[in-house]
Amino acid sequence: MKKICGICSRSFDAAAERSEDAKAGEWLAEEVWQDAGTLCPTCLEIRTKLVMMYCHEYNT
Ligand SMILES: [Zn+2]
Repeated sequence: MKKICGICSRSFDAAAERSEDAKAGEWLAEEVWQDAGTLCPTCLEIRTKLVMMYCHEYNT
């Protein structure tokens, strides 16, 4: 299923295999930003890396 990313506007396959960072990003999208399913794996990974750098309260 193709979707358009809400950040970079690229199309991506919502059913594609995710990296560990992208899976963490999906969790954050559900729990923190409430925009799960609207971002591509690349943007999820980028956001996860930013969160790990700046938001230490999400590191467990
Ligand atoms: Zn994207």
